[in-house]
Amino acid sequence: MNEVNNNNNSNSGPVLNATGVVKSYGARKALDAVDITIQPGEFVVLLGPNGAGKTTLFQLLTGLFTPDAGEIHIGGIDIRNNPVPALAGIGVVFQQPTLDLDLSVTDNLRFHASLHGLNRTEARLRIDEELGKLKLTDRFNDRARTLSGGQRRRIELARALLHRPQFLIMDEPTVGLDPSSRRDLLSYVLQLKQERQMAILWASHLVDEAEQADRVIILHKGQILTAGEPEKLVQQTGSNNLHDAFVSITKEN
Ligand code: ATP
Repeated sequence: MNEVNNNNNSNSGPVLNATGVVKSYGARKALDAVDITIQPGEFVVLLGPNGAGKTTLFQLLTGLFTPDAGEIHIGGIDIRNNPVPALAGIGVVFQQPTLDLDLSVTDNLRFHASLHGLNRTEARLRIDEELGKLKLTDRFNDRARTLSGGQRRRIELARALLHRPQFLIMDEPTVGLDPSSRRDLLSYVLQLKQERQMAILWASHLVDEAEQADRVIILHKGQILTAGEPEKLVQQTGSNNLHDAFVSITKEN
Protein backbone atom coordinates (compact mmCIF):
# COMPACT_ATOMS: atom_id res chain seq x y z
CA MET A 1 0.00 0.00 0.00
CA ASN A 2 1.28 3.40 -0.94
CA GLU A 3 1.44 5.27 2.31
CA VAL A 4 2.24 8.87 3.10
CA ASN A 5 4.01 8.66 6.42
CA ASN A 6 4.77 12.14 7.37
CA ASN A 7 4.98 15.44 5.59
CA ASN A 8 7.12 16.98 8.33
CA ASN A 9 10.01 16.56 5.99
CA SER A 10 13.51 17.80 6.50
CA ASN A 11 13.09 20.73 4.11
CA SER A 12 14.25 23.68 6.15
CA GLY A 13 13.29 26.36 3.61
CA PRO A 14 10.05 28.31 3.77
CA VAL A 15 6.83 26.29 3.97
CA LEU A 16 5.25 28.89 1.71
CA ASN A 17 6.80 31.17 -0.83
CA ALA A 18 4.33 33.10 -2.95
CA THR A 19 5.67 35.78 -5.25
CA GLY A 20 3.91 38.31 -7.47
CA VAL A 21 0.55 36.56 -7.16
CA VAL A 22 -2.22 38.16 -9.20
CA LYS A 23 -5.83 36.99 -9.51
CA SER A 24 -8.65 38.88 -11.18
CA TYR A 25 -12.35 38.20 -11.56
CA GLY A 26 -13.18 39.98 -14.81
CA ALA A 27 -12.05 43.58 -14.37
CA ARG A 28 -11.77 43.23 -10.55
CA LYS A 29 -8.30 42.49 -9.21
CA ALA A 30 -8.83 40.35 -6.10
CA LEU A 31 -5.07 39.94 -5.54
CA ASP A 32 -2.53 42.35 -6.88
CA ALA A 33 1.14 41.29 -6.82
CA VAL A 34 1.02 39.55 -3.46
CA ASP A 35 4.27 38.24 -1.94
CA ILE A 36 4.15 36.02 1.15
CA THR A 37 6.87 33.90 2.71
CA ILE A 38 6.22 31.75 5.77
CA GLN A 39 8.95 29.93 7.66
CA PRO A 40 8.60 26.60 9.48
CA GLY A 41 7.04 27.03 12.91
CA GLU A 42 5.64 30.52 12.28
CA PHE A 43 2.11 31.49 13.28
CA VAL A 44 1.03 34.13 10.79
CA VAL A 45 -2.31 35.90 10.78
CA LEU A 46 -3.54 37.26 7.47
CA LEU A 47 -5.67 40.14 8.62
CA GLY A 48 -8.01 41.85 6.21
CA PRO A 49 -11.49 43.32 6.09
CA ASN A 50 -14.29 41.74 4.05
CA GLY A 51 -13.36 41.58 0.38
CA ALA A 52 -9.62 41.96 1.03
CA GLY A 53 -8.80 38.83 -0.97
CA LYS A 54 -8.14 36.33 1.85
CA THR A 55 -10.36 33.56 0.48
CA THR A 56 -9.06 34.12 -3.04
CA LEU A 57 -5.52 33.63 -1.74
CA PHE A 58 -6.56 30.40 0.01
CA GLN A 59 -8.18 29.16 -3.20
CA LEU A 60 -4.86 29.63 -4.95
CA LEU A 61 -2.85 28.03 -2.13
CA THR A 62 -5.08 24.97 -2.24
CA GLY A 63 -4.92 24.65 -6.00
CA LEU A 64 -8.63 25.30 -6.55
CA PHE A 65 -7.69 28.10 -8.94
CA THR A 66 -4.45 29.06 -10.59
CA PRO A 67 -3.07 32.59 -10.36
CA ASP A 68 -3.12 34.83 -13.44
CA ALA A 69 0.50 35.65 -12.66
CA GLY A 70 3.07 34.80 -10.03
CA GLU A 71 4.32 31.63 -8.43
CA ILE A 72 3.40 29.61 -5.36
CA HIS A 73 5.80 27.12 -3.80
CA ILE A 74 4.75 24.96 -0.86
CA GLY A 75 7.63 23.29 0.95
CA GLY A 76 9.77 24.28 -2.01
CA ILE A 77 7.46 22.61 -4.55
CA ASP A 78 5.80 24.60 -7.32
CA ILE A 79 2.06 24.09 -6.97
CA ARG A 80 1.44 24.75 -10.66
CA ASN A 81 3.90 22.16 -11.96
CA ASN A 82 3.64 19.61 -9.14
CA PRO A 83 0.28 20.04 -7.43
CA VAL A 84 0.06 16.59 -5.80
CA PRO A 85 3.27 16.66 -3.73
CA ALA A 86 2.86 20.39 -3.07
CA LEU A 87 -0.67 19.93 -1.71
CA ALA A 88 0.36 16.89 0.35
CA GLY A 89 2.37 19.30 2.48
CA ILE A 90 -0.57 21.40 3.66
CA GLY A 91 -3.55 20.87 5.92
CA VAL A 92 -6.58 23.00 5.15
CA VAL A 93 -9.58 24.22 7.12
CA PHE A 94 -11.85 26.09 4.73
CA GLN A 95 -14.12 28.97 5.69
CA GLN A 96 -17.23 27.09 4.60
CA PRO A 97 -17.99 23.82 6.42
CA THR A 98 -16.91 20.83 4.34
CA LEU A 99 -17.89 17.77 6.39
CA ASP A 100 -20.35 15.32 4.91
CA LEU A 101 -23.11 15.72 7.49
CA ASP A 102 -24.64 12.32 6.74
CA LEU A 103 -21.42 10.44 7.42
CA SER A 104 -20.10 9.60 10.86
CA VAL A 105 -17.20 11.54 12.28
CA THR A 106 -14.88 8.63 11.73
CA ASP A 107 -16.01 8.06 8.12
CA ASN A 108 -15.41 11.71 7.31
CA LEU A 109 -11.88 11.34 8.60
CA ARG A 110 -11.25 7.94 7.05
CA PHE A 111 -12.18 9.29 3.62
CA HIS A 112 -9.59 12.04 3.94
CA ALA A 113 -6.98 9.57 5.20
CA SER A 114 -7.48 7.35 2.17
CA LEU A 115 -7.18 10.33 -0.18
CA HIS A 116 -3.75 10.85 1.36
CA GLY A 117 -2.74 7.21 0.92
CA LEU A 118 -2.88 6.15 4.59
CA ASN A 119 -3.66 2.47 5.14
CA ARG A 120 -6.54 1.47 7.42
CA THR A 121 -4.41 0.73 10.46
CA GLU A 122 -2.44 3.93 10.25
CA ALA A 123 -5.62 5.90 9.57
CA ARG A 124 -7.31 4.40 12.62
CA LEU A 125 -4.35 5.24 14.87
CA ARG A 126 -4.15 8.79 13.65
CA ILE A 127 -7.92 9.35 13.86
CA ASP A 128 -7.86 8.09 17.48
CA GLU A 129 -4.92 10.30 18.28
CA GLU A 130 -6.26 13.52 16.73
CA LEU A 131 -9.79 13.10 18.07
CA GLY A 132 -8.38 12.29 21.50
CA LYS A 133 -6.30 15.46 21.55
CA LEU A 134 -9.32 17.48 20.49
CA LYS A 135 -11.47 15.79 23.18
CA LEU A 136 -13.88 14.29 20.68
CA THR A 137 -13.28 10.57 21.14
CA ASP A 138 -16.80 10.06 22.47
CA ARG A 139 -18.29 11.38 19.19
CA PHE A 140 -16.47 8.88 17.00
CA ASN A 141 -19.50 7.13 15.55
CA ASP A 142 -21.94 10.03 15.62
CA ARG A 143 -23.14 11.58 12.40
CA ALA A 144 -21.45 14.92 11.74
CA ARG A 145 -24.95 16.46 11.58
CA THR A 146 -25.44 15.86 15.31
CA LEU A 147 -22.39 17.91 16.33
CA SER A 148 -22.33 21.56 17.31
CA GLY A 149 -20.64 24.13 15.07
CA GLY A 150 -17.59 24.23 17.36
CA GLN A 151 -17.30 20.44 17.38
CA ARG A 152 -17.59 20.30 13.58
CA ARG A 153 -14.74 22.82 13.30
CA ARG A 154 -12.60 20.65 15.58
CA ILE A 155 -13.34 17.61 13.38
CA GLU A 156 -12.27 19.64 10.35
CA LEU A 157 -9.07 20.53 12.15
CA ALA A 158 -8.44 16.88 13.12
CA ARG A 159 -8.99 15.95 9.48
CA ALA A 160 -6.54 18.61 8.28
CA LEU A 161 -3.86 17.12 10.54
CA LEU A 162 -4.25 13.43 9.65
CA HIS A 163 -1.60 13.38 6.94
CA ARG A 164 0.82 15.25 9.23
CA PRO A 165 1.33 18.40 7.17
CA GLN A 166 4.04 20.84 8.20
CA PHE A 167 1.87 23.77 7.14
CA LEU A 168 -1.72 24.42 8.23
CA ILE A 169 -3.92 27.01 6.58
CA MET A 170 -7.22 28.13 8.08
CA ASP A 171 -9.59 30.55 6.37
CA GLU A 172 -11.60 32.50 8.96
CA PRO A 173 -11.96 29.33 11.04
CA THR A 174 -13.85 30.98 13.89
CA VAL A 175 -16.79 32.24 11.80
CA GLY A 176 -19.99 31.29 13.60
CA LEU A 177 -18.26 30.10 16.80
CA ASP A 178 -19.09 31.46 20.24
CA PRO A 179 -16.34 33.31 22.17
CA SER A 180 -15.27 30.31 24.19
CA SER A 181 -15.06 27.96 21.16
CA ARG A 182 -13.16 30.71 19.34
CA ARG A 183 -10.64 30.98 22.18
CA ASP A 184 -10.28 27.18 22.41
CA LEU A 185 -9.61 26.83 18.68
CA LEU A 186 -6.97 29.55 18.72
CA SER A 187 -5.21 28.10 21.75
CA TYR A 188 -5.24 24.62 20.20
CA VAL A 189 -3.59 26.01 17.09
CA LEU A 190 -0.94 27.78 19.18
CA GLN A 191 -0.33 24.44 20.88
CA LEU A 192 0.19 22.81 17.45
CA LYS A 193 2.85 25.39 16.73
CA GLN A 194 4.60 24.72 20.05
CA GLU A 195 4.33 20.94 20.12
CA ARG A 196 4.63 20.03 16.44
CA GLN A 197 6.56 23.05 15.19
CA MET A 198 3.90 23.56 12.53
CA ALA A 199 3.62 26.71 10.48
CA ILE A 200 0.13 28.18 10.42
CA LEU A 201 -1.50 30.75 8.19
CA TRP A 202 -4.74 31.90 9.82
CA ALA A 203 -6.96 34.34 7.92
CA SER A 204 -9.28 36.61 9.86
CA HIS A 205 -10.88 40.00 9.95
CA LEU A 206 -10.89 39.91 13.77
CA VAL A 207 -7.96 41.86 15.17
CA ASP A 208 -7.95 40.11 18.57
CA GLU A 209 -7.12 36.82 16.80
CA ALA A 210 -3.89 38.40 15.54
CA GLU A 211 -2.57 39.51 18.90
CA GLN A 212 -0.61 36.31 19.57
CA ALA A 213 0.74 35.97 16.03
CA ASP A 214 4.45 35.86 15.31
CA ARG A 215 3.66 38.05 12.34
CA VAL A 216 0.59 39.83 11.04
CA ILE A 217 0.12 40.44 7.34
CA ILE A 218 -2.40 43.15 6.54
CA LEU A 219 -4.20 42.54 3.26
CA HIS A 220 -6.50 45.23 1.94
CA LYS A 221 -8.15 45.51 -1.48
CA GLY A 222 -5.92 42.75 -2.82
CA GLN A 223 -2.63 44.26 -1.69
CA ILE A 224 -0.37 43.66 1.28
CA LEU A 225 -0.13 47.01 3.04
CA THR A 226 2.33 45.95 5.70
CA ALA A 227 3.54 42.97 7.71
CA GLY A 228 5.32 42.52 11.01
CA GLU A 229 5.12 41.51 14.63
CA PRO A 230 1.97 42.85 16.30
CA GLU A 231 3.93 45.14 18.68
CA LYS A 232 5.94 46.56 15.77
CA LEU A 233 2.77 47.48 13.86
CA VAL A 234 1.46 49.23 16.98
CA GLN A 235 4.74 51.14 17.37
CA GLN A 236 5.03 52.03 13.67
CA THR A 237 1.60 53.62 13.64
CA GLY A 238 1.93 55.29 17.05
CA SER A 239 -1.23 53.50 18.14
CA ASN A 240 -2.31 52.27 21.55
CA ASN A 241 -3.16 48.76 20.44
CA LEU A 242 -3.31 46.46 17.42
CA HIS A 243 -6.92 47.31 16.67
CA ASP A 244 -6.09 51.02 16.33
CA ALA A 245 -3.00 50.16 14.29
CA PHE A 246 -5.11 48.07 11.90
CA VAL A 247 -7.68 50.88 11.52
CA SER A 248 -4.94 53.41 10.92
CA ILE A 249 -3.18 51.25 8.30
CA THR A 250 -6.32 50.35 6.38
CA LYS A 251 -8.04 53.75 6.46
CA GLU A 252 -5.19 55.44 4.61
CA ASN A 253 -5.71 53.11 1.64
P1 ATP B 1 -14.45 37.93 3.36
O1 ATP B 1 -13.73 38.33 4.62
O2 ATP B 1 -15.71 38.71 3.15
O3 ATP B 1 -14.60 36.46 3.19
P2 ATP B 1 -12.13 37.96 1.59
O4 ATP B 1 -11.01 38.77 2.15
O5 ATP B 1 -12.04 36.50 1.75
O6 ATP B 1 -13.52 38.48 2.14
P3 ATP B 1 -12.46 37.41 -1.23
O7 ATP B 1 -13.66 36.55 -1.01
O8 ATP B 1 -11.21 36.76 -1.63
O9 ATP B 1 -12.20 38.34 0.05
O10 ATP B 1 -12.86 38.50 -2.30
C1 ATP B 1 -11.90 39.44 -2.84
C2 ATP B 1 -12.57 40.23 -3.97
O11 ATP B 1 -12.83 39.35 -5.06
C3 ATP B 1 -13.92 40.84 -3.58
O12 ATP B 1 -14.02 42.09 -4.23
C4 ATP B 1 -14.92 39.85 -4.14
O13 ATP B 1 -16.13 40.49 -4.46
C5 ATP B 1 -14.22 39.33 -5.38
N1 ATP B 1 -14.59 37.93 -5.68
C6 ATP B 1 -14.33 36.86 -4.90
N2 ATP B 1 -14.78 35.73 -5.50
C7 ATP B 1 -15.34 36.11 -6.68
C8 ATP B 1 -15.96 35.40 -7.75
N3 ATP B 1 -16.10 34.09 -7.75
N4 ATP B 1 -16.42 36.14 -8.79
C9 ATP B 1 -16.27 37.48 -8.83
N5 ATP B 1 -15.67 38.21 -7.85
C10 ATP B 1 -15.21 37.53 -6.78
